Amino acid sequence: MATFRSTISIILVFIFCFHTICSNAHAEETVNPYTEREALYHKMETITNVPWYYLAAVDSYERGLRKARRDRADADGFISIYYAKEDWVGPLNPNQDDESPDTISLFEGIGLDGNGDGKALLTDDEDVLYTLARYLESYGLTEEDFRIALWHFYQREQSVNIVAGHAKVYQHYQTLDLHKHAFVMPLHHNYSYRSTWGDRRGWGGRRIHEGTDIFANYQVPIQSSSYGIVETIGWNPYGGWRVGIRDLDNIYHYYAHLSGFEKGIEKGTIIEAGQLIGYCGSSGYGKPGTQGKFPPHLHYGMYRDNGITEWSFDPFPSLKQWERAAKQAKK
Ligand SMILES: [Zn+2]
Repeated sequence: MATFRSTISIILVFIFCFHTICSNAHAEETVNPYTEREALYHKMETITNVPWYYLAAVDSYERGLRKARRDRADADGFISIYYAKEDWVGPLNPNQDDESPDTISLFEGIGLDGNGDGKALLTDDEDVLYTLARYLESYGLTEEDFRIALWHFYQREQSVNIVAGHAKVYQHYQTLDLHKHAFVMPLHHNYSYRSTWGDRRGWGGRRIHEGTDIFANYQVPIQSSSYGIVETIGWNPYGGWRVGIRDLDNIYHYYAHLSGFEKGIEKGTIIEAGQLIGYCGSSGYGKPGTQGKFPPHLHYGMYRDNGITEWSFDPFPSLKQWERAAKQAKK
């Protein structure tokens, strides 16, 4: 028994030390990925004339895809743009690890040498970003050209819309540092919520509850939890007056059952975290204008895009985290 106990203590000491070492290593890490990425985008903009925010938009979309997809590991470098090996070197290239720009081009691979070291490497941030920039440039530099290039790249309207939205947000704020969050209503109002994700619900056939309900009074201000762009706004038979905002991690934030929208909020409006978007209500479950079929509350949903489809995940842990951060900030 004594041996067992001491073994456990040794393991605990090990875990503790390991944890301490890891957190120290983390604290010493001074590299800011935003600064590194911004430098790379601006460098490629100088070489190719492709606006840096187009490159940033594709890169952040691809970063979100890697988070959403099990078949793509996180990028090793700062740039997340994904190319399949066979596309990079050319599908008929007998050397699937080819690094030579000449033979890659001979086999109609897309890989280019972006930093002039004589190699086209899938693992080199500059080569990957340069390859994307040249591709975009070949379609032209207007917003319409950009959308056409994206359409050929992704063959999916929703991917084009998300990337084009990211580009607008980056162009507007002129920074990549747009991942701060806010709680969905001011803390001084009375509100309550619990984890209800996945519960069964009654109206409109058998569906599961894809979100968290935050009960509050009519007209309590609803604020955006994230930076992003308004993707949908208007009436929906289930959600009533609802707004959908797409953030820079490709996550779609859905705010439903509102009594009304804040003035000036429309499709394409650029939104910052904490910005007022509408007011709590009980709209929905019927024709446009239907309200009062349930107590007033905000239905808040989060959906992730993986480049093929979207699915809902539980927003409750995020809400708790943002609420805690808002309380901390007040102290
Ligand atoms: Zn709900």
